[in-house]
Amino acid sequence: MTDPTSTTLRIPTFDDVKAAKERISGAAHRTPVLTSRTADRRTGATLFFKAENLQRAGAFKFRGAFNAIATLDPSSPRRSVVAFSSGNHAQAVAYAAKLQGVEATIVMPKDAPEVKVAATRGYGADVVFYDRYTEDREEISRSIAAERGAVLIPPYDHPDVIAGQGTAALELIDEVGEIDLLVVPLGGGGLLAGSALSARALSPASAVIGVEPEAGNDGQQSLRKGEVVHIPVPKSIADGALVTHVGYHNFPILQRSVDDIVTVTDAQLVETMRFFAERMKILVEPTGCLAAAAVMGGTIGTAGKRVGILLSGGNIDLEKFSSLLRGQ
Ligand SMILES: *Cc1c(COP(=O)(O)O)cnc(C)c1O
Repeated sequence: MTDPTSTTLRIPTFDDVKAAKERISGAAHRTPVLTSRTADRRTGATLFFKAENLQRAGAFKFRGAFNAIATLDPSSPRRSVVAFSSGNHAQAVAYAAKLQGVEATIVMPKDAPEVKVAATRGYGADVVFYDRYTEDREEISRSIAAERGAVLIPPYDHPDVIAGQGTAALELIDEVGEIDLLVVPLGGGGLLAGSALSARALSPASAVIGVEPEAGNDGQQSLRKGEVVHIPVPKSIADGALVTHVGYHNFPILQRSVDDIVTVTDAQLVETMRFFAERMKILVEPTGCLAAAAVMGGTIGTAGKRVGILLSGGNIDLEKFSSLLRGQ
């Protein structure tokens, strides 16, 4: 998306998050909030892990995708959506569309992992391939949208997507009560913006901190500079957070309601994945570990605080998981 003026944007509010919660309830899991004495002892804090690795399709992205699809005009004759992604958003849109009887087309790179292509097709979506070196996926998606009368569902830069993502933090605070700090993984800012809306409304004294990979700190730069900063495609094992800039619907919310953005290294992510597997018996993908790594690794001081932590996803195949652990 090119830089639009803020007057053309519909920035979501907490009311939109509450409306999203109504729409997705019954479809999205209310995921558990996990605790760990070991983690509490290490940090001196009381940590509440919202386990979106156990969400349908394996990540919080199902919330935003389901909400955005649920707002489509029910009276239009042919309901159809298109998304471009090789990751969790693709599977979320495919699955959420299937559950709502909507056609989905997912635009994926030709060299996308076979398991992801199979999973997306398994949800009934039509997969269209593009060459990531010679073709522009946004252009392809737009032409599919025009040809098939499909509505484009972006991964983060969209008010209904942001509102849907905000429901995870809403459930977390609803369950554990007010917290001192909420820590959230950051890619394009759908999860962080939505979470900030919920935290400001339900736990107003809480600080909100976003965490991105050290190799791609565009969000941190943007917050410091006061405008959306673009960077080259970053390299990190946090493959769900490799964006070149945060969203334009997201940034005003981050500016208003996020206190800080910090970064963690790939080594910290691997250490955190290991902790979750060994100690808490859960599989969290590298991107899903961003927030926890910043807390457990001491990047963010949490002693004496009640801290909400979003574990954003669990989609990693076991070969990859074990090779990351071995590589350490
Ligand atoms: C997409 C994704 C993120 C980043 O979310 P944004 O809304 O783009 O900031 C974090 N973790 C996982 C597992 C994801 O799939």
